[in-house]
Amino acid sequence: MSEAHKAGFVNIIGKPNVGKSTLMNTLIGQKLSIITSKAQTTRHRIMGIINGENFQIVYSDTPGILEPAYELHKSMMSFVNVSLEDADIILYLTQVDEKPEDNNVLKRLNNLNNVPVFLLINKIDKASAKQIEDAINMWNQRIKANEIIPISALLAKNTDHLFQLILDYLPEHPPYYPKDDFISDRTERFFASEIIREQIFLHYKKEVPYSCEVVIDEFKEKNNMLYLRSIIYVERDTQKGILIGHKGEAMKKMATDARKELEIFFEKKVFLETIVKVEPDWRNKKSKLSKFGYNT
Ligand code: GDP
Ligand code: MG
Repeated sequence: MSEAHKAGFVNIIGKPNVGKSTLMNTLIGQKLSIITSKAQTTRHRIMGIINGENFQIVYSDTPGILEPAYELHKSMMSFVNVSLEDADIILYLTQVDEKPEDNNVLKRLNNLNNVPVFLLINKIDKASAKQIEDAINMWNQRIKANEIIPISALLAKNTDHLFQLILDYLPEHPPYYPKDDFISDRTERFFASEIIREQIFLHYKKEVPYSCEVVIDEFKEKNNMLYLRSIIYVERDTQKGILIGHKGEAMKKMATDARKELEIFFEKKVFLETIVKVEPDWRNKKSKLSKFGYNT
């Protein structure tokens, strides 16, 4: 008899450079039977899935969560909130010499109900025992965390313990994704288009994003730089106008943020071209749908 199956979304958040990617690699790389893949939906950016016989962990991170609020309009905030509340476990990654600010994230984390939060103190390999202890005490007063765990993502120190705790807290649930190679057949173009689509959701009001479809028309790598040409299909001229905005400002903002996310994702400089085309009623047209990669 096998135990009940556990599965869930583990969301890694934290400031730039604290070691999120390193931790992801360590957590995924240490384990066998892995699908390393990256995907993105409007809710989660899936960076990797680890499958075990009795568990499935879907790691993801939340883009821009610790960015200053200057561009974060309401929809972005609710987006961030949803992605926090959607997680089954939140890993809030900090580094050992980090000074906590009273940022919105801390506030929101402390107001979360029913979502376990692990406060991780990373890079302990370059700290003394005293510094580590001080950091633990300091965070203890600042955050309502279920666990405070010092680690070194780079040297895989204490990450087995972290992994065990993740398993302990993971809810009982059947796998969210098939355990065979489900995402691995998705191409980089797919991920690029999802990243752009997400930015459209963050930058435009409700109705517009739903009428957009993003196709990566060209995907070329040259001199360690990616050249992407994306076509954003909309249904009507009015939507095209909204997307582009006055003097192209709206599109420029969206494309800039998309490019930044693409650069993080692909770990390369990205040159992104965005073209908007009107494709009347694409949602109702089967041929178009299959062109966009939907199963019809
Ligand atoms: P991210 O921006 O949060 O994804 O951070 P990265 O994973 O890209 O790491 C940023 C830098 O911190 C890199 O140079 C890593 O090698 C380094 N780093 C990550 N984890 C550790 C750690 O545990 N110890 C030390 N000394 N450096 C680390
Ligand atoms: Mg990173």
